[in-house]
Amino acid sequence: MTIFEKIIAREIPAPIVYEDDLVAAFNDINPQAPIHVLIVPKKIIPRVGEATAENQATLGALLLAAGKIATQLGVNETSKGFRLVINNGQDAGETVPHLHVHLLAGRELTWPPG
Ligand code: 5GP
Repeated sequence: MTIFEKIIAREIPAPIVYEDDLVAAFNDINPQAPIHVLIVPKKIIPRVGEATAENQATLGALLLAAGKIATQLGVNETSKGFRLVINNGQDAGETVPHLHVHLLAGRELTWPPG
């Protein structure tokens, strides 16, 4: 069981900021911005590179949830903004083998990312 599965099962406490049939979202334990939410599929997909056509609805649900959460948090406007990040594999910095979309916001974000 991944740490994120334990959070979804409420075995590890984390404030759940959004939940629907397919995905759940909670605050990152080590935030890299004033807003740093992780959006994860409830049914584990290890990483985006291993997703299949069967996961299409879940993959869409992750991005739709991101937009809803950004609205909830007041950053879904062009004068503010938010960034979505998916780290896939070692070079990208993936540390938890349970697909997750980072939603970062609340400060000006630099580009390119490190
Ligand atoms: P990755 O590096 O795999 O893209 O992102 C994993 C993220 O999970 C990191 O930003 C890390 O801070 C977060 N994280 C790891 N363990 C926990 C935990 O137990 N609770 C929460 N809320 N976030 C975690």
